[in-house]
Amino acid sequence: MSVTFLENFSAQTSETKRKLVAMQTGNSESIRQILQNSLPSDITLAQRFESFSENNLGLYALPIGVAPNFLINGKLYHIPMVTEESSVVAAASSSAKFWYKRGGFKSVVNGREKNGQVHFTSEAPSEYFDSISEQLQPRFYEELLPHVEGMESRGGGVKSWIIEHRPEVMPNYYRLDVRFGTADAMGANFINTCLEVMGRTLEQFVRENNPDSNTRVIMAILSNYNPGSTVTASVSCPVEEMITKGATPQEFSERLVMATRIACCDVHRAATHNKGIMNGIDALMIATGNDFRAIEAGAHAWAARDGQYRGLSEAHISDGVFHFSLTLPLTLGTVGGLTSLHPVAGAVLDILDNPSAEELMQIAAALGLAQNFTALRALTTLGIQKGHMRMHLGNILIGLNATREEHEKVSEWFNDNTVSLSAVRAYIEKLRENGAK
Ligand code: NAD
Repeated sequence: MSVTFLENFSAQTSETKRKLVAMQTGNSESIRQILQNSLPSDITLAQRFESFSENNLGLYALPIGVAPNFLINGKLYHIPMVTEESSVVAAASSSAKFWYKRGGFKSVVNGREKNGQVHFTSEAPSEYFDSISEQLQPRFYEELLPHVEGMESRGGGVKSWIIEHRPEVMPNYYRLDVRFGTADAMGANFINTCLEVMGRTLEQFVRENNPDSNTRVIMAILSNYNPGSTVTASVSCPVEEMITKGATPQEFSERLVMATRIACCDVHRAATHNKGIMNGIDALMIATGNDFRAIEAGAHAWAARDGQYRGLSEAHISDGVFHFSLTLPLTLGTVGGLTSLHPVAGAVLDILDNPSAEELMQIAAALGLAQNFTALRALTTLGIQKGHMRMHLGNILIGLNATREEHEKVSEWFNDNTVSLSAVRAYIEKLRENGAK
């Protein structure tokens, strides 16, 4: 394989891009065909997918499944999930079933405020910026007007702003901190537009009124850390109803409390604990066309909000009742971005009865809590590998090109035996040897 510099690549057609990239491999025609075949036969649809990102070569398929029977705030949902990890949908479904019989999930949105900052430097003292805020407000208002009218009509817009001196970061560093409402949109593009307008307006205003202050905008950008946009999902039931294999209800409840305590204090456990929560939330964010990187960044920043990275969920027992909850920020949308452009995301939102952004936050938090519950249940009772590896068995069998008959025999054998790649391979080899005799 010889990799060469691709001159003027972005100007080529998709067809040529596929050829050029495939030619860099030792297997050019087959690679080109795989990429070509990954596109849908419907040309309009193929063009739509190609338009989503630059230098498109084709489509990368992931399975979409559904975790049925989620009772959230008294309403039933079947939650579509896009994930490649074999145990994730099964875990969510199992938790949904468990809590359906115990009153379901409660999910409450605590706030919907987003934020962004204009970062700038100035030699003017902080008192100067305090003194100009009254004059700046109408200037901001005037310049923002054409950009915020639509959002204001939906109840969103620029809600408040403040200029803060942060000399601990850099001697002349200031930050214009702005709060936004973005209704049913995630709002990243709206926020960034407003911030750039505000940055230009601020720079212009200070240039006119205090030209010697050398005031310069460094950058204007939304924050993916949104402590004002959190949601809390919770479940509870009498301890005696915490029935599971491998532990008594009391033991099981106490182990869950200890498991969340460990995740709260031990970063090694917290990272994995939260990864499990995000297994569910990301799968729904991808299915609905949301920006899961933004959701991830926000969740992890929130998990570290007091300086120590902690688990996102909490469990306790009081007066004989087990309580389990999850709070995290979710800046998602049900309009805008890919939500309205990806045909499958549209279908997913239909399956969820076209929720508002607030309702989707509630669903996502419940799903994250459900995922966490099943993971902790397995971890604190029978161990995670038994269920996990059984789910993974299908992937192992695909990798070993197992026939349907081999599939059935292997599944039966590994009902009572520990699954591992080497054990499955050895068992299949034995089956094939016996078959050949
Ligand atoms: P968008 O640019 O598609 O804008 C959504 C628009 O929908 C709004 O501006 C509004 O005009 C319209 N709208 C219609 N009905 C609405 C309703 N009921 N409520 C609110 N708006 C309504 O999308 P966006 O939400 O501004 O930005 C999301 C996109 O930005 C995502 O694709 C994300 O990946 C991307 N992005 C993210 C970051 C980041 O997270 N750091 C940065 C830049 C861009």
